[in-house]
Amino acid sequence: MLNENYSLKNLNTFGIDCYARWFAEYSSADELREIVGTDLYRNSPSMLIGRGSNLLFITDFEGVVLHSAMRAVKLIGHDKSSVMLEVGSGVLWDELVEHCVRNGWWGIENLSLIPGEAGAAAVQNIGAYGVELCDVLESVKVLDLSTGQEISLSVEDCGYGYRKSIFKTSARNQFAILSVRLRLSRQPRPCFKYPHLEEEVLKRGEVDLATIRRTIIEIRTAKLPDPEVLGNAGSFFMNPLVSASKLEKLQKVFPAIPNYPADNQQVKIPAAWLIDQCGWKGKSMGKAGVYEQQPLVLVNQGGATGKEIAELAAAIQTTVANQFDISLVPEVNYIG
Ligand SMILES: Cc1cc2nc3c(=O)[nH]c(=O)nc-3n(C[C@H](O)[C@H](O)[C@H](O)COP(=O)(O)OP(=O)(O)OC[C@H]3O[C@@H](n4cnc5c(N)ncnc54)[C@H](O)[C@@H]3O)c2cc1C
Repeated sequence: MLNENYSLKNLNTFGIDCYARWFAEYSSADELREIVGTDLYRNSPSMLIGRGSNLLFITDFEGVVLHSAMRAVKLIGHDKSSVMLEVGSGVLWDELVEHCVRNGWWGIENLSLIPGEAGAAAVQNIGAYGVELCDVLESVKVLDLSTGQEISLSVEDCGYGYRKSIFKTSARNQFAILSVRLRLSRQPRPCFKYPHLEEEVLKRGEVDLATIRRTIIEIRTAKLPDPEVLGNAGSFFMNPLVSASKLEKLQKVFPAIPNYPADNQQVKIPAAWLIDQCGWKGKSMGKAGVYEQQPLVLVNQGGATGKEIAELAAAIQTTVANQFDISLVPEVNYIG
């Protein structure tokens, strides 16, 4: 049940050569309860892992790494206008999107090709092209790791925001996600909030699910490196939010600074632009690099350690802070 000294090289998309002291998979709540009831688990540090597409291992993990093998997708309800799905936390996210597109269920097509699993998607509140997971999420079933109790959390309970949830803040390490419930539309419901997306779809065909998915896949493939080829974790930093008055001050010095309205009268500034302005695009430090086509993506140019990538990230944070007085916050979770 518990594997000792388990390589995580294929379970982190940076491709960092690292190990878990112990590794265990669970395919049901009962199996997970059994693992977390062992003395070994209770006396060791522990963490959950999905596909490691949002993790940076700085060191090996000297404890128990848990991975969900709950891979069922169940249709648990439907009416004329919508379907309700219960999705196991170990289901590969993009396979789920493909399944929904094939069945004519609208809501997550804009989230095509995001790596990782359904459980982690609910931790991260994944988002892309104007859609966030919380837009279609109804509830999350979790196991409380200290009591072994199964609990259903409503979308409100999960405290979602931009790449934010209680699973990353107040309830960090408290719950293992077992499954997520999504409500998807059977009626066409395209989301074209993202600039030029509709144009791109129409260039390729009709406004239907298959064309939207193909468009998103083509755009993403052109912009982002394939982790199988060049290790990376997608956007390394979150786009910073600043107040309107701070933006005004910045605009006096940097009139071309791009910005988008965000919640609570704040403004979002693309982190990629800030990093690019500081001259980081295409640069490297040791075997860690800044991706030439998209400076928000840090890459493992081959054999980089997690520490090297973290050092590059810290150097970028320092120059952006010095030039713009803005703190870049990593979207990627550091382990170690
Ligand atoms: C090329 C590329 C492109 C990307 N594009 C996007 C994008 O467009 N939008 C976006 O939002 N993200 C994007 N990402 C980031 C990443 O894909 C998402 O954050 C994804 O949800 C992480 O899934 P994972 O299974 O790999 O989780 P991991 O990285 O393994 O884990 C992420 C977090 O979830 C926790 N976790 C994992 N499984 C469970 C569970 N069952 N229960 C409780 N906690 C759990 C982990 O402890 C960790 O804190 C991209 C990454 C890459 C490599």
